Amino acid sequence: MVETALPSGDPFRDPGLGSGDFEIIAESIPHLVWVASPGSSIEYFNRLASDYTGVQLGASRSWNWVSLVHPEDIDQARRTWAEAARTEVPFTLEYRIRRADGEFRWHTVRGSPVRRADGHIMKWIGTATDIEDQKRLEEDLQRAQRETAETITLLETLQSGSPVGFGFVDRDLRLTRLNETLAAASNASVEDQLGRRVPELVSEAIWAQLEPIYRRVLDAGASVINLELSGASADDPEHVHHWLVSYYPVRLDDEIIGVGIVAVDMTERKQAEAFRAAVTDNMVEGLYALDSDGRVTFANASGVEMLGWTEAELLGESVHSAVHYQRADGSPIAEEDCELLKVCSRGRPIRMTDDAFTRKNGAIVPVTYTAAPLLNGSEIDGAVVVFRDTTHERADEERVQRELDSLSWVGRIREALDEDRLVLYSQPIVPLGGREPSEELLVRMIGRGGEVILPGSFVPIAEKYGMISEIDRWVLGQAVTIAAQGRRVEANVSAQSIAPLYLLPVIERELRNTGAEASNLVFEITETALMQDVHAGEVFARGLADIGCGLSLDDFGTGFASFTYLKRLPLQSLKIDIEFVRELATNKANQHIVQSIIQLARGFGYDTIAEGVEDEETLALLRGYGVDYAQGYLLGAPAPLQIA
Ligand code: C2E
Ligand code: MG
Ligand code: MG
Repeated sequence: MVETALPSGDPFRDPGLGSGDFEIIAESIPHLVWVASPGSSIEYFNRLASDYTGVQLGASRSWNWVSLVHPEDIDQARRTWAEAARTEVPFTLEYRIRRADGEFRWHTVRGSPVRRADGHIMKWIGTATDIEDQKRLEEDLQRAQRETAETITLLETLQSGSPVGFGFVDRDLRLTRLNETLAAASNASVEDQLGRRVPELVSEAIWAQLEPIYRRVLDAGASVINLELSGASADDPEHVHHWLVSYYPVRLDDEIIGVGIVAVDMTERKQAEAFRAAVTDNMVEGLYALDSDGRVTFANASGVEMLGWTEAELLGESVHSAVHYQRADGSPIAEEDCELLKVCSRGRPIRMTDDAFTRKNGAIVPVTYTAAPLLNGSEIDGAVVVFRDTTHERADEERVQRELDSLSWVGRIREALDEDRLVLYSQPIVPLGGREPSEELLVRMIGRGGEVILPGSFVPIAEKYGMISEIDRWVLGQAVTIAAQGRRVEANVSAQSIAPLYLLPVIERELRNTGAEASNLVFEITETALMQDVHAGEVFARGLADIGCGLSLDDFGTGFASFTYLKRLPLQSLKIDIEFVRELATNKANQHIVQSIIQLARGFGYDTIAEGVEDEETLALLRGYGVDYAQGYLLGAPAPLQIA
């Protein structure tokens, strides 16, 4: 059965127990069993003890057990032995014993004296039981207890001060734990709610919403996260609070023991959102937000309107490909040059006063904008762009600039008049029907540098700022001089010059003074100028006729003179505007118009003069149509007036 022989010499000669019996018992006990002499040398180990310690007791009985004891425990073990030997009473002690593999493990060592019949101690018999695992377990338990205590302390701390509400509801729907913040959400104290069932704590309507949530968590073990709940507080019904609430299953050993509740008060965030919405929806500036890839994540009402998209269409679009892919002049912007994308990547705000966005329909809108990065800590989450359509501002700026330019021209015209820097050019008016030739006087200004400035640059300004009459009177003087030389001449006059009636007496006086033939002098007034003040035009025309001078209606066909006036006015000729003469050979409509004007003029007994004849083909056509006079570069460009 048990093969281990007892050490030589029978240690149990007289214990009242047969040595064979002892051996059987000792070998079957699941503990280390030892027998020691009263002097404390080990004389017997059961097989388990030998295997465990790796110590095979030989013939020598002087083997010292102390060598198996952990050095730190030796003193204590020795003292206990000494005490037991002195008092001769059983002892129990815990110390570390070295196992065969060298590991020290905690043991409970018990020893009891075995006495002879005379009462003297013959041996000590004892056991050593490995309690290492048990000790570990105890330590783990202690650690777990300590950690639990820490957790509870932490929870209790949070319970009072946390801005986050939390609680625990057991399977019976009883609120067994809640902190003050969660209690405040239901307008009652912690004490009033603790231990009560949730259905009793909330209104029926709210419980109807909450019940399926509790069932989901308790029955299906699913979490219900970020549910938005709102409610007015009892003491201030005006003040609505908003909560973001999550419900989690709480498990113990795989069993759901209840529902954990976490609630965050988002009232301030909701208010901030409402404020933001009120501002962005009502601001006149366009506003949009971009994510870090430059895609639109938000656009306000003005923004989508100005860009011509709907909000749904614009969301998710890349700002570069939808809005900012070309400049004000239509030239493309490369993605790497897109300033808005740079704000998203570099995180620096920018302000652009002279840029352009493109509407959905491709129209370019001049804009001023600011773009600022949206920062989340040190990360760039995107950008927000606020912009203004500057179309009207640009138009205003341009108008102001034009005004300033005009004003500077006013000064230049004044100087030219004062410094006698106006000159006249003359362009021949060639008769096609064999009657007398004429010439048109065209004014020019000589600039300070000697350059010749055409009337298009200064006549409209002189008209606007009341200086044209002065120019026209000077031209009139020159025209009368030429007429006095027996040359037929045409001079242009503006609407402003004919309105004051003193021009007629001036013409009359000049003619008288020079002795010029009145019929040599013809005035040109545009159809548009004449229609500006029909009454003044009529008086001027009649006055001229009375004096004996002629009147030509210039730029005919571009204004809106009615037949009534054509019939009433004593005109000499209609000057067909260059607009209808140009491209006459190829433009059927112009041919039609020119022929109609000629016919109309004939009907009233007026001559026709075609302006701007530049080629032979046109001239031939005009001749064929029966035009009376022609004028243009082909027949003679305006050249400095020669006065004999
Ligand atoms: P307008 O009286 O109709 O004069 C004809 C314009 O056509 C002139 O321009 C002349 O140079 C230009 N012209 C002549 N032949 C041709 C041609 O074959 N082809 C083209 N493309 N153009 C031709 P300009 O000299 O620049 O005068 C412009 C306008 O300024 C005149 O139009 C007239 O309305 C005004 N203007 C000129 N002199 C005076 C003036 O002394 N007093 C006033 N109040 N206005 C004047
Ligand atoms: Mg003219
Ligand atoms: Mg003209």
